[in-house]
Amino acid sequence: MRVRPLKGEPVALDLMDTVWVEHGSLVDQFDDLEGVRAWLADHDLGEDDGLQRVRDRLVETRDALRDALEGRGPDRLNAVLDRGARRPRMRDGEPYELVVVDDPAWRAGWVAAADFVRMMGERPERVRKCANPQCVLWFLDVSKNGSRRWCSMEGCGNRAKVGRFNQRHKSTG
Ligand SMILES: [Zn+2]
Repeated sequence: MRVRPLKGEPVALDLMDTVWVEHGSLVDQFDDLEGVRAWLADHDLGEDDGLQRVRDRLVETRDALRDALEGRGPDRLNAVLDRGARRPRMRDGEPYELVVVDDPAWRAGWVAAADFVRMMGERPERVRKCANPQCVLWFLDVSKNGSRRWCSMEGCGNRAKVGRFNQRHKSTG
């Protein structure tokens, strides 16, 4: 099983980023049900019942998010969102929201889809794909000046720096 370590991105983007490039080919954390289990546990969406069905719905949600982000429209995303709703409640004097879904296997996917809508409502211009054309990862830029370009400084950011360095040395040498 391969699991990408979390980088503190919103859950919607963490779902997108369950597919990444390793040695030039795409890796999908959800190819393995243990990878699905790990992702659910990482996001407190633990659901051991019907893991296979949860996986199918997460993959459907992930494709829907990709459609929405890559200009193919919100129809599939809205279809996912139709699967559930938030119901405001009170408990011990405190308000909270109950997630109600028409099928428990939709809970994780629905939560990620709803998180995407929240994120796009707050700072849509800060939702970006990594500037490395070979990378498929997305991130939310929470830096002060909004100049983040890479999924990670250690990964793609560093590779870009080394690339520029090599370029410079080739052209001057
Ligand atoms: Zn990257």
